[in-house]
Amino acid sequence: MHNKLIDIAAVILGSMVLFSCSRYTVVQNNDDTVPCSLDIFAMDTYMNLKAYGANAEKALSEAEDRIKSLEKELSVTSDSSEIFALNNSSGEAVSLSEDAVFLIEQAKLLGRDTDGYLDITVFPILREWGFTTGNYHIPDVNIIARLLKDTGFEKIITNGSSVQLPENVQIDLGAITKGYTGDEVIEIMRSKGISSCVISLGGNVQALGTKPDGTNWKVAVRDPYKPETDMCIVDIADKAVITSGNYERYFISDDGKRYCHIIDPKDGYPADNGFVSVTVIGENGLTCDALSTALFVAGEENSADLIRKYPEYDFIIVSDKEIIYYTKGLDGHFKNTSSMAAEVMKVD
Ligand code: ADP
Ligand code: MG
Repeated sequence: MHNKLIDIAAVILGSMVLFSCSRYTVVQNNDDTVPCSLDIFAMDTYMNLKAYGANAEKALSEAEDRIKSLEKELSVTSDSSEIFALNNSSGEAVSLSEDAVFLIEQAKLLGRDTDGYLDITVFPILREWGFTTGNYHIPDVNIIARLLKDTGFEKIITNGSSVQLPENVQIDLGAITKGYTGDEVIEIMRSKGISSCVISLGGNVQALGTKPDGTNWKVAVRDPYKPETDMCIVDIADKAVITSGNYERYFISDDGKRYCHIIDPKDGYPADNGFVSVTVIGENGLTCDALSTALFVAGEENSADLIRKYPEYDFIIVSDKEIIYYTKGLDGHFKNTSSMAAEVMKVD
């Protein structure tokens, strides 16, 4: 599996590791500010958290605990998770944690608001394609047709802490968990008095405040055609930068075609609607994560309405014609470092 694909350019701090505070690496940068940095492997991906200020170590430790407990609750593959219990409840109502209920309710709302492009009930189809088992293959059309009958986020019944799925309906929160986790980490930082922090959760970047010197964070977005390199840099403060791309998890079939891990809920096939990567930039990580997945599915023909619906969010989309389109809110904050053409998106 390819690790997720945005770097934190801002976090390349010119200078060296000076000493360690317990498991946390303390790095001194040229501004004499001292971030605490923590690397974690969780949610099937590499994460790095950096925080500045007196409480940084404590805040990072709390954030790590929170990430680990969210992973435990929400993982679709771990047989001790709440989502696993829900998916194997044979149609019975199950009482879930606040996090799981919140995410399921948000997923339903965002499913509705994105015209069903985000649909957390595609899980059985995703599994059939081999994305959670490693048994990658193109399923028989009849199997896809049968599995499609048991999808549809509107089938999920929520009532207080209780959630009920009809028999054969199963969910997976993978499209929004990391965005929500970012929001939760940033909230912990804020509550601990941290005013400057940047995190990368498997490439999804989220920042609290600005860099300690008051300038914006510079976040590099990967080139979907050359995932080892960056295609552009955006500068942000207090925002998340979240990408869905066809290069993150995929397999190539015998006919040479690439199939990625984002499923089009309308036909049960991996989405291939003209986009190879979609980056969403905005204050709420969960919404950015949901929109990056939804827009990737909506594709060239159907994304303009959705983009217009979220004017407070910015978007960077790479088409399968190798052109970068970005929304005009990014003008002055976007630097193309690739050989692709980049132009402002026309959505009006
Ligand atoms: P990543 O997990 O690489 O950050 P995304 O945020 O785009 O990428 O989420 C992709 C994941 O979301 C898939 O691995 C799967 O778990 C789930 N998923 C796939 N297609 C959909 C969809 N149409 N709606 C909701 N969730 C989806
Ligand atoms: Mg997503």
